[in-house]
Amino acid sequence: MSTVAAYAAPAPKAPLERTTIERREVGPHDVLIDIRFAGICHSDIHQVNEGWGEAIFPMVPGHEIAGVVVAAGSEVTRHAVGDRVGVGCMVDSCRECEFCLRGLEQYCANGNTMTYNGVDRNGDVTYGGYSKQIVVDENYVVRIPDALPLDVAAPLLCAGITVYSPLRHWGVAPGKKVAVVGLGGLGHMGVKIAAALGAEVTVLSQSLRKKDDGLKLGAHDYRSTGDPATFTELAGEFDVVLSTVSAPLDFGAYLGLLKTDGAIVNVGAPEEPISLNLFALLGGRKTLAGSMIGGIAETQEMLDFCAEHGLGAEIELIDADQINTAYDRVQSSDVRYRFVIDATTI
Ligand SMILES: [Zn+2]
Ligand SMILES: [Zn+2]
Repeated sequence: MSTVAAYAAPAPKAPLERTTIERREVGPHDVLIDIRFAGICHSDIHQVNEGWGEAIFPMVPGHEIAGVVVAAGSEVTRHAVGDRVGVGCMVDSCRECEFCLRGLEQYCANGNTMTYNGVDRNGDVTYGGYSKQIVVDENYVVRIPDALPLDVAAPLLCAGITVYSPLRHWGVAPGKKVAVVGLGGLGHMGVKIAAALGAEVTVLSQSLRKKDDGLKLGAHDYRSTGDPATFTELAGEFDVVLSTVSAPLDFGAYLGLLKTDGAIVNVGAPEEPISLNLFALLGGRKTLAGSMIGGIAETQEMLDFCAEHGLGAEIELIDADQINTAYDRVQSSDVRYRFVIDATTI
């Protein structure tokens, strides 16, 4: 065991404070990572606030981890001391079910182990990336290519893969038209990645406040969803609509934006159930779908793709003592586009 500094929420909805946690001994298949940067994901805030159900406290959030390997177990073959690596939302899964065997560990039939607010095989509570070091099984650690600076790479481990996986699954490529709903942490990476995949990208946002940013990030068009003309002018335009917002949308209206065989994919999750007239799916054989992060191999593929295309997240780097302020700002949508904690300040 080793004792490391961390920032933890001691109780539900409580401000995060500096503390120490125990990390397990580096086992034969483990690597010890010196965390350099940790992104703040909106889901960290949901979990601290128990917005998604009962959680485990004290909680050390953080599943957008970028760092350097400083020790490796005797059986480790995938990573070596000095390697630049990342850890995302999962640190283990059953490795035996049909989904794990297909590289879809995020949909493990036996439940994967979340990077924090989870319980690992040893029965230990998992603690995330708002800390100095973490011990992770090498199979759940990915390599960060040299072309990607670690600070802008950190948010790719959740925000990047969350949008990359569905864009690939639903065949986004040159000649396809994609709408990205919401230009936040997820949405801004959705625009960058969809444009790099060769698609024509439109941002659909409540207002035109971030239009200049959206066009700079690679969008070809930027429309306000507050303007009813958007839904008539863009009717039947898109192959894929990627919704990154957690506000409940009028899905009937958004389905009207799809071409035949088009799909709306949700990566944001409204807390409230939605109501939908299913006739909106029948004409045009449309799909209303969801997607959750991505598998380990696909996360590596995403990082390699982002390195090749020079895509990192747009970030605001903060010191650890600014985490609580950053939480407030995320909740009031006042971030362009991801807060990243400089873990050396923890
Ligand atoms: Zn996340
Ligand atoms: Zn499994």
